[in-house]
Amino acid sequence: MGLPGIGSPTIIPLATTGSATFLRVQSGHRVWDEGMIWGVHASRQTTLRDQATVTGIGVHSGAPVTLTIHPAEPDTGIVFLRTATRDRQDRELKANYRAVTATEFATVLGDHNGPAVSTTEHILAALHGLGVDNAIVEVDGAEVPIMDGSAAPFVAAIDQAGVVTQTAPRRYIQVLKPVRVGKDGCYGELRPNLRGLRIEAEIEFDHPLIRRQTYAVDVAPNVFRRELSRARTFGFMRDVAKLWSAGYALGASFENTVVVAEDRVLNPDGMRFADEFVRHKVVDAIGDLALAGAPLLGAYRSVRGGHKLNHAVVTALMADASAWCYVEMPQPARRSARGHADLAGAFAAPAYGPDVS
Ligand SMILES: [Zn+2]
Repeated sequence: MGLPGIGSPTIIPLATTGSATFLRVQSGHRVWDEGMIWGVHASRQTTLRDQATVTGIGVHSGAPVTLTIHPAEPDTGIVFLRTATRDRQDRELKANYRAVTATEFATVLGDHNGPAVSTTEHILAALHGLGVDNAIVEVDGAEVPIMDGSAAPFVAAIDQAGVVTQTAPRRYIQVLKPVRVGKDGCYGELRPNLRGLRIEAEIEFDHPLIRRQTYAVDVAPNVFRRELSRARTFGFMRDVAKLWSAGYALGASFENTVVVAEDRVLNPDGMRFADEFVRHKVVDAIGDLALAGAPLLGAYRSVRGGHKLNHAVVTALMADASAWCYVEMPQPARRSARGHADLAGAFAAPAYGPDVS
């Protein structure tokens, strides 16, 4: 579909844009160390050790849905398996930017038969954030369950199942030059970053509780778990009637959405982070960027963006063959030619297991 509100993706090589506004000092936030772990150890593909299941409701439909994440062979990528369709035909959809059919209120994947699975961004963020390359995500409804509005329940399910390293080398998408899409003061841009995936987000709402918030992070499994995964979806009371009449947000409640009124958050338990809103934008961006089809070596900046902009930037990147290339990380050295065949796997595995120190 087209990209209303953004127009056709345009690729504008950026001159320098100052990053000072995105710097954010956080005590106890060892981003640098964990970014290094990501870079050093992530040379092989991973999948789940066992399957993991969660149940919940769709935030837009309100309908009950069960989601099961299955282990998958190397080079599978993330594939959605939509079951329990009206015509009883299961549908398989590769989690890829080409399969995006809508981005208005969530990222929807489908094919020539139409939309198949909505609200894919939080499960994709959890898989991508924890460094899972290969998985089949089976969903028995039209929408991924919203759970508590964050990626944390998916992270818990993946951690419980465990993540294992496979023999195949991981292939990254290396961003070679800046790619930017924007309109009317909103923009998203990807630029080269050999250390892994970095996200810099800025949001601005004309609302006293939010105003302008920024957040920058080098994405790594423990950082994702601790700093990002618990940040919830948010919505404004002033939009609710409009959403409901359009058939959206029928399942939204205090259980799965931070509800913002004119001067306060209405949820009885309040916020999980003072800047939960912008952290959630980062989660959404990680999920949407997973649709490039492989982990990115790049830094992504989103300014007043959302699913539509994230998708437009990934599409613009992939459309320009001079802007990216596939790369594999060097394999960890093996100690000797005999007797230590599993050494490389032993080095690689701890970076993604739930027992990471
Ligand atoms: Zn979200």
